[in-house]
Amino acid sequence: MTTSIKLLFDPKVEEKEVHIISKAIEEIYEIEVTCRTVLKIKKSAYNRKRKQYNGQKLLNNLIDEENLKFFFWIVEDDLYVPVMNFIFGLATQFFGAIVSFHRLESLEMKIKESVHECGHILGLGHCVNLCVMQYSTSLKEANEKPSSLCSECENKIKENKRNFEPNKD
Ligand SMILES: [Zn+2]
Ligand SMILES: [Zn+2]
Repeated sequence: MTTSIKLLFDPKVEEKEVHIISKAIEEIYEIEVTCRTVLKIKKSAYNRKRKQYNGQKLLNNLIDEENLKFFFWIVEDDLYVPVMNFIFGLATQFFGAIVSFHRLESLEMKIKESVHECGHILGLGHCVNLCVMQYSTSLKEANEKPSSLCSECENKIKENKRNFEPNKD
């Protein structure tokens, strides 16, 4: 059985980058990235005081209102969740994830954070090994972590993929 991830991106995100990132996700997880559809960030999730978008609201909207599953949404605007100043991304395991390029300075970082969030979509948690699934709250931490999976996470992905039935609710 093949597993695929639906890729969505805000029109502010460069399409060239979307293509590079979707290739990286396909290679690392050996899955298909489909759709590559433009989805504009929703004004209703904007917080005028913080000048940021509520990442949790955006994510929940796609899961609960749009009924999407296995989706990955790339946006350019800055994201937050109420307990944090900002977030690079946010995921709900086995459902979907959102990533913001706002604070990510290089293409390499954008790829890394995208691979990280897609790991969550495919059921990975945070990892303490030398691994792209390390938890990072600062640019420095995000910069320093490796861009590939450790062998434990790789094995977990293989196991999860065997159990996936993406079309079943
Ligand atoms: Zn994470
Ligand atoms: Zn790992």
